[in-house]
Amino acid sequence: MKTVYFDNNATTKVAEEVLEEMKPLFCDLYGNPSSMHTFGGQLGRKIRRAREQAARLIGCDPTEIIFTSGGTESDNTAIKGSLAAALNKRKVITTRVEHPAVLAACRDLENHGYTVIELAVDKEGRLDLAELEEKLDDDTVLVTIMHANNETGVVFPIDKIAEMVTGRGVVFHTDAVQAVGKIPLNLAKSSIDLLSLSGHKLHGPKGVGVLYVRKGTRLASFMVGGHQEAGRRAGTENVPGIVGLGKACELAAQDLEQGNNKVKRLRDKLENAILKSCPDSRLNGDKDNRLPNTTNISFEYVEGEAILLMLDKFGICASSGSACASGSLEPSHVLRAMGVPFTAAHGSIRFSLSRYNTEQEVDYTIEKMPPIIKKLRELSPFVAKS
Ligand code: PLP
Repeated sequence: MKTVYFDNNATTKVAEEVLEEMKPLFCDLYGNPSSMHTFGGQLGRKIRRAREQAARLIGCDPTEIIFTSGGTESDNTAIKGSLAAALNKRKVITTRVEHPAVLAACRDLENHGYTVIELAVDKEGRLDLAELEEKLDDDTVLVTIMHANNETGVVFPIDKIAEMVTGRGVVFHTDAVQAVGKIPLNLAKSSIDLLSLSGHKLHGPKGVGVLYVRKGTRLASFMVGGHQEAGRRAGTENVPGIVGLGKACELAAQDLEQGNNKVKRLRDKLENAILKSCPDSRLNGDKDNRLPNTTNISFEYVEGEAILLMLDKFGICASSGSACASGSLEPSHVLRAMGVPFTAAHGSIRFSLSRYNTEQEVDYTIEKMPPIIKKLRELSPFVAKS
C-alpha cells in the first residue's frame, strides 16, 4: 500500500537534491571544520555557502545566522539568551497558542521571578493587537509570538507586531518554524530581532535549524565550550545537516510562489470536499490568513485518534493536533484557546500538505473520508440512532 503523507507540519521528506549534497559529508568529506588541515578546513567553505543560502531565503545577512540543532533549541536560545542579556526587566509576553518549545520555556521563567503574559486568541485563532499594545510596558523585556501556528496554520501579522514591539524598545522573537518556506519573509524589511526556523519542516534534515539574530541584538550564549558560530553556539558543527539545510533553503526560495500555489490548490480541494461530504464538520482557524498547506477540521461525535487509525489503514498519514502533543488525551491547547468546544476539539484532524503531494492522493483521501466518519459515528454512543 502506498503511503499518502499529509503530515508535513510534523516533518517533511528530505528532498533528493538535499540528500545528494549531504551524502559525501559522511564517509568522504568527514573532517572537522575547526581542524588546521585542508581536509577539515575545506568544510568551512561549505558551511559558509549554507549560511548564505539560509540568509537568502529569509532576507538577512549571513553573519546574522546561527546554526542550531533545530526549532526547539532556537526557541530556547532566543528566549533564555535574550533575558540573560537584559537583567533588570521582568516581564515576557507570548501567546496561548505557541508551540510547547516556546510555551514551556516561558512558563519555566515564572519559576525565576518573571511575569509571563499569554495573550488570548479569538475563535478564529487571531490575536487582538490592542491587547498586546496594552500589555507592553517599561518592564517588558521580550515578546515572543509565532509567525504561523503549527496546528491550524493561522498566520499572525508578524511584521506589524514586530514594529509595535521594537518601537517600544522591546526585543521581539518569532518562532517561524512553520512559516519559513511556505510564505514569503523578508527580514531586511522587518524589525524582527530574533527568528527560529527548522530544517526538517522544509524538506531538509532533522536535527538542524537556524536562529536569526539581528545585528546589534544582545544575546547571551546558550551553549558554551567552543568557538563555533563566532562563539555564539559552541559544539562541533553538524556539517551534513547544515549543508542539507542550506540546500533546502535554496530549493524553498526557488519554489516559494509556484510550489505553494500548487499546494494551496490541493489543500483547498481536499478541505472543501471534506467539509461538503462530512456532515457536522467545521474548519478551525482563520480561513483567509493561513499557511497554504494546512487545514484543521473538527468532526463532531468522533474521536480524532479513531479517525487517524482508520485513515492509517488506508495508508493516509494525518495528525490530531500537533505531533508533539500526540500520546496525550488532552485536547489541543490551541483549539481550546480558540474556544473550540471540547467535543469538536477532540474530533479534530490536521492535514498538512507539501509540494510532493499529488492530485491523486487528494482524490483518494476525499473518497475515503466520508465512509470513515459515517462508520465511526455509527459506533459512537453520542450519536442518536435512527
Ligand atoms: N516550533 C513550531 C511552531 C513547530 O511546529 C515545531 C515542531 O513541530 C518546533 C518549534 C520544534 O522544532 P524542532 O522539531 O526542529 O525542534
